[in-house]
Amino acid sequence: MKLPYIEPYKIKMIENITTSTKINRKKWIKEADFNLFNLRSDQVIIDLLTDSGTGAMSDNQWAEIMKGDESYAGSKSFLKLRQTIRDLLGFQSFLPTHQGRAAENILFSAILKEGNIVPGNSHFDTTKGHIEMRKAEAIDCTIDEAFNTESDYPFKGNLDLKKLETIYKKYPKEKIPITIITITCNSSGGQPVSMKNIEEVSALSKKYGIRVFFDAARFAENAYFIKEREKGYKEKTIKEIVREMFSFVDGCTMSSKKDAIVNMGGFVAFRDRSLYEKVANFDIIYEGFVTYGGMAGRDMGALAQGLDEATEYEYLQSRIKQIEYLGKTLQKFNVPIQTPIGGHAVFIDAKRFFPHIPQSEFPAQLLAIELYKEAGVRGVEIGTLLADRNPITRENRYPKLELMRLAIPRRVYNNDQMKYVAVAIKNVYDRRNEIKKGLKIIWEAEIMRHFTVKLDMI
Ligand SMILES: *Cc1c(COP(=O)(O)O)cnc(C)c1O
Repeated sequence: MKLPYIEPYKIKMIENITTSTKINRKKWIKEADFNLFNLRSDQVIIDLLTDSGTGAMSDNQWAEIMKGDESYAGSKSFLKLRQTIRDLLGFQSFLPTHQGRAAENILFSAILKEGNIVPGNSHFDTTKGHIEMRKAEAIDCTIDEAFNTESDYPFKGNLDLKKLETIYKKYPKEKIPITIITITCNSSGGQPVSMKNIEEVSALSKKYGIRVFFDAARFAENAYFIKEREKGYKEKTIKEIVREMFSFVDGCTMSSKKDAIVNMGGFVAFRDRSLYEKVANFDIIYEGFVTYGGMAGRDMGALAQGLDEATEYEYLQSRIKQIEYLGKTLQKFNVPIQTPIGGHAVFIDAKRFFPHIPQSEFPAQLLAIELYKEAGVRGVEIGTLLADRNPITRENRYPKLELMRLAIPRRVYNNDQMKYVAVAIKNVYDRRNEIKKGLKIIWEAEIMRHFTVKLDMI
């Protein structure tokens, strides 16, 4: 018999979970204005709000915390991280930042102007926020297959080359300072981009003289999918695949809170030293000197170690198989989910879950609330609330996908806990027709409203 895969680690320290009753949770979610971001973590049993900064560090990462060099300039921890980025990603220069959006901030401060265009595959919300704040426009060039949750297309993160070329032809290249490939593509469901697509986007962009960057938060998970799904990569190591992926682009922004398995941190990495110089000015103004920019020395050490661990096959296999386990259990219960199952999360299709609730009543948020009340599981809406309003017309933007995301922290929960989550969702699904009305907004912020929005049940 073939031996099953196992987690390539064991538990050294545990953190207790506080349990609660349905009666408590109904009261708490009302007090939280039906916004799951307002809940206290001890009001949550299984927290699948995000996989960002919520991973468990290894003993070797904690050892790096102890070895951290806190020198203001040229610390050993910085040099260790620089060497790791050079070896792993092939970029000679990088700038540390306190997290991913800070990396976006310093890069865009240097290259993006009002009226510019930034093509990409479903830009991440902070990326889009940073683009729109500068009165520039993010244009989504994701392939159409991404928006059909039932299609099994293996690389739903891919960019549509025709859509991309239409933009390249329509605008002068001075108006397009950058094209961003998000790997894996969070907004379309943790879906990977194929090596072929990366290569083609790179070639097309070169032809038009436009630089390409990765938004690399989940680069290792993307590499795992290339190994599993794309012809010619079975025998390659994850590190070889990563190196090849990055060879096609000019640089990357990184939220280290994802695939680098640290709780805080980020960076921008560059092939071109002159762009590094420009962006470095903004790192110094906003983040700190170029050898620590927003990070403690010890955190840079843990990050270097995390980048190495996250690009090991056994770890990635156990992570992605766990997400598959949750997804497949939900499928057995007939719960409608986005397929193929993504790299860091399972996405439930709220339009198919609650076909009788219109998008204007936020069905994905409704599902997240019902799941919380049922079992204390915290997911997050990736739908109309997140899509926000059009900055000019102030109308709601109704996205094609109305999803409730269950993001799985790295190395934190076990499969019994995943089963608990699946059964909780089944219970909500079984009583879905008793839930007749959605939500309305009571108060919202100008930008990125989903974090602070106040809602009420209709
Ligand atoms: C999380 C994330 C960001 C922003 O990073 P933060 O560390 O949260 O600021 C940007 N892009 C993607 C794809 C992300 O997942």
